[in-house]
Amino acid sequence: MLGNPAKLSESPQFLILKDCLARRLLSFPELQNPTHAQESSEPELRDFTSYLAQEVWSTLPTAYLEASYENKSHIPDDLDSIPLDSTSGSFIDTLVSYGIVSDAEASQTFLRRVLAEYLTDVCAPPPVWSSTRVKECEICEREIPLTYHHLIPRSTHAKAVKKKWHPTGMLNSVAWLCRPCHTVVHQVATNEELALNYHSVDLLLQREDIQRWGRYASKQRYGPRRG
Ligand SMILES: [Zn+2]
Ligand SMILES: [Zn+2]
Repeated sequence: MLGNPAKLSESPQFLILKDCLARRLLSFPELQNPTHAQESSEPELRDFTSYLAQEVWSTLPTAYLEASYENKSHIPDDLDSIPLDSTSGSFIDTLVSYGIVSDAEASQTFLRRVLAEYLTDVCAPPPVWSSTRVKECEICEREIPLTYHHLIPRSTHAKAVKKKWHPTGMLNSVAWLCRPCHTVVHQVATNEELALNYHSVDLLLQREDIQRWGRYASKQRYGPRRG
């Protein structure tokens, strides 16, 4: 645990790392189907994620802690070159004892995946609409910069027209999603599944994994404190 958690929570990078960790943790069935009631497991997931994020944060090189779109040239492309030898022992022990990974090596693989997503997210160009558009994300309902998600992904348009999946007038419908929610949507289904079965926000919100993520994300602060 670091000495000054209040300071930590000021860093947008830390909040993004926490989101990436939560997304990966939520993909484990052990944590998705807790034996106890959801009301009690969600604060637990938040605490669990915060704890793990702090453990990771305290061992990362400064270049990673401060990574952003503007200074992404300082970040080595090769993730395998990140020195993880100093990965916190309690991070490893916690993942192993929750049955999320089997050993120290697997916990490093887990961590590399989280870091790959973290670096993609923190080094992404700022959303185009961030300065002009303030509106709630359609999944987590946070008022943060939004991206647009093609409900019928563009890569499927040719097929969708040929197979008459949707009237052509529907092809350009979009949902306004924050970046973390947008990433989750693309993690839970392929573009074709999205086009066929999840071509509206309502359909997306019927998925259990999206609901669970949305409840989690709605309680997380994102980016620098406003106003
Ligand atoms: Zn969102
Ligand atoms: Zn999308």
